[in-house]
Amino acid sequence: MTITPITTLGDLTTRRGTAGDPLRGRLPLARRADGLVGSVIDSSTSLLAAQTHDIVRFAMGAPAAESVPAEQFRRIAAEVLDHDSFTYGATEGEPGLIETVVEHHSTTPEPTHPDRLVITSGGMQGLDLAFKLFVDPGDLVAVESPTYTNGSGTALSYGADVLEVPVDRDGMDVDALEDLVASTGRLPRVIYTIPTFQNPSGTTLSEPRRRRLLNLAHHWGSVILDDDPYGSLRFAGTRVPGFRELSPDDPLVFSVRTFSKVLAPGLRVGWVDADPRLRHLLIAGKQAMDTCTNVPGQHIVERFVRQGGYDDHLARLRVEYRRRKEAMDAAIARHLGPRVRTTDPEGGFFLWVTLQGEDARVSASRLFEIALAEGVAFIPGPALSPAGRFGDAFRLCFASTTPERTEIGVQRLARALDIARAEVDR
Ligand code: PMP
Repeated sequence: MTITPITTLGDLTTRRGTAGDPLRGRLPLARRADGLVGSVIDSSTSLLAAQTHDIVRFAMGAPAAESVPAEQFRRIAAEVLDHDSFTYGATEGEPGLIETVVEHHSTTPEPTHPDRLVITSGGMQGLDLAFKLFVDPGDLVAVESPTYTNGSGTALSYGADVLEVPVDRDGMDVDALEDLVASTGRLPRVIYTIPTFQNPSGTTLSEPRRRRLLNLAHHWGSVILDDDPYGSLRFAGTRVPGFRELSPDDPLVFSVRTFSKVLAPGLRVGWVDADPRLRHLLIAGKQAMDTCTNVPGQHIVERFVRQGGYDDHLARLRVEYRRRKEAMDAAIARHLGPRVRTTDPEGGFFLWVTLQGEDARVSASRLFEIALAEGVAFIPGPALSPAGRFGDAFRLCFASTTPERTEIGVQRLARALDIARAEVDR
């Protein structure tokens, strides 16, 4: 059997719905299939896997492979995995893991309660459940622009109309949100935000804006979908209080969390922290997807956190990611200099890069193709906006690569930009 690989960015960007698909009319596909929006970000994994040359990978938001405590996971697996780990688990999650998450947060500014938690298959499932519960076809969903398009794509797949709200250095521009909502004449059912070290811009929503967003959500009756996979990875600056801290037990705050960025994304273990009255609906919604989250993965995470190594692990990650971010800043200053402007995140995984001056005439999507051939990958800006904005920008993940590889990758990127520039100058 041969598997058709994804070989170009075009394959990625056109893999949306069934429009133009030869299957259309041949199989009795539901209208919903037309609206399914895949993920350019996720598909870049297949695209890169199909390449045979050396590529520096700034594309996926994956933790540093070296930082994954694989040895500890192996040891823990040998200790904890038994027959109970290989049968069906409770849909809401393994009781031990739920307890562990509660205990772990008991001394933080955002304590929680077992009734608020449902363990999910990564943060993605939390986003899916949120849109499944709150969005009917035609409802308005406000998203940051740029945004994590797996989230906005899920909203679109449930039939939402998406409203893109600009992001500046303090995160979502809440004034612009208010104006845009007023101009549509409709209220958003959901405001989707990645408040801390946003994917892809790396920016953090300021405390005054968080408070205003809460006020607006209450005024409008909108849910704040608070997607925060990176918040614990702060390596500079001062902490900004979370929505759950600013408005404890607020029924309009629906929080999505994951172990993917701190432990390992392949475990597929995350959780939703939401109003307890939603729990039976979350469970029903999840039962339609996967019955329960991977049980061995939950048992491994539970034991890892219980052993007490989690905070030390986080502390090491913060030091390492700061080093990697600084290495990327320095490489960009050396090889790209004034040709680009970058954001300056205080944590997380991403830098957002905007081409400047004459280089802004280069299309980030074309640059991606050239860069891939040159041996470096990133996510082009248009893949991070539902409307395909940001043709002059791209996302770089600094977390996955060592400073040495980052240096090589940025050199290749500069070479790719020279080639792309020569194309537009011709
Ligand atoms: N939200 C954001 C903002 C993310 O960056 C990611 C991962 N890229 C997710 C959710 C999904 O996380 P998971 O891999 O746990 O599904």
